[in-house]
Amino acid sequence: MFSNLADSLDKTFRNLRGVGKISESNITDALRDIRLALLEADVEFSVAKEFVAHVKEKAMGVDVLKSIKPGEQIVKIFHDEMAELLGGDQVPLDLSDPGYVLICGLNGAGKTTTAGKLALRLKREGRKPLLVACDLYRPAAIDQLAVLAKQVDVPVYTPEASETDVVKVAKDALEWAKTQNHNVIIFDTAGRQEVDERLIEELKRLHAFLQPKETLLVADSATGQQAVSVARHFDEAVGITGIILTKLDGDARGGAALSMRAVTGKPIKFAGEGEKLDQLFEFHPNRMADRILGMGDIVGMVEQVASKIDEKDAMKSIQRLAEGKFDFYDFLDQMKMLQKLGDMKGLLGLLPGFNKIKKQIPDAAFDPKRMKRTEAIVLSMTPDERRRPEIIKNSRRERIAKGSGVKLVEVNQLLKQFGEMRKMMRSPNKMKNMMKQMGGMP
Ligand code: GDP
Repeated sequence: MFSNLADSLDKTFRNLRGVGKISESNITDALRDIRLALLEADVEFSVAKEFVAHVKEKAMGVDVLKSIKPGEQIVKIFHDEMAELLGGDQVPLDLSDPGYVLICGLNGAGKTTTAGKLALRLKREGRKPLLVACDLYRPAAIDQLAVLAKQVDVPVYTPEASETDVVKVAKDALEWAKTQNHNVIIFDTAGRQEVDERLIEELKRLHAFLQPKETLLVADSATGQQAVSVARHFDEAVGITGIILTKLDGDARGGAALSMRAVTGKPIKFAGEGEKLDQLFEFHPNRMADRILGMGDIVGMVEQVASKIDEKDAMKSIQRLAEGKFDFYDFLDQMKMLQKLGDMKGLLGLLPGFNKIKKQIPDAAFDPKRMKRTEAIVLSMTPDERRRPEIIKNSRRERIAKGSGVKLVEVNQLLKQFGEMRKMMRSPNKMKNMMKQMGGMP
């Protein structure tokens, strides 16, 4: 998502930074490029136009031309406007009593998956969620929610197959909920291929009965401007309180994400970035603007890492690296941490500048099977070999290859890579450079 937009913006801003003296006409050219880039990303025409007008007004208003780094200043103005367009501050869920969350949207948008993801998120935050299946048209959707609920270990209410009245289902679910210890109830509703009257009528009745504090529209970002018009429809019908944009991990152009807030006035509260159940993230406009500008989202990355890795383990590892120690035990520990992190490419996408080098990194680098083979090689080493890899000479290499069931070349390759990593870890300057790059510093 956003990689084409990020590429075009990068080019525009590089040009701007490159010119010695910036004039009004440079700015006008840059703004024209920005507008084109936004339209190409499928941003609604009026939104793109207004956005560029705002940036222009600010760029001309401030003493940009007289400032020391006019190029940088324009990038900053653009960034702040972008964050504003995406909604300003992050808007949290209102889970105050009765704690009802109504999930709605079209079929295939990701409603049921998102209901499961949200339940998991809230559970991890220490809440006690319940799930309720209110889709009476597709029995498969009810089963799907039941399966997801089991995966995230959250209780679920599923109606009888013969039930046809959604309000009755909600009433029964609330009755059942009294027997459960909970403080949030997530209702997953029926969808359609497209917005139709019957669907909206049913949703209105359910909404009137529950009067939820949160009515969240799940919208598929890959459907671009259609997602925006769907959001407008649902908002007019029941008054949504927020949007969850799904499939932000795909290569859609991102226009939906950019127009959504401006068109509906409703905040994007969460973003789905993958099929796994822990891939639902709070939507932070500022950080998203960073990502669009290729500045990465270090905070988001740290949060994701922190939720999956024990801080003590990570600190131990960092401590050893800082002391210049790095052996195959450290390597194994780090591999285990990497495996826990799961979707590495998605995570690395949050690093500044990663989009630019992404295409050069082979998918095999993140292949879990390959990681398993590497792990097998290390596990076939003796403790002494793991601590002092320099003693692993020919016959030892052959023994390790046999023990781990891989070819000798793979063992040689790993030892070579390890040697290079070790050299880098032991060179303070190189480490410093790496850290610098990670922080996006010049
Ligand atoms: P529903 O019909 O709205 O309930 O949609 P589902 O929850 O059944 O999701 C439809 C498909 O989209 C499923 O294959 C999901 O795994 C997939 N999906 C949902 N959210 C995401 C996401 O954030 N990223 C990706 N890549 N796939 C998603």
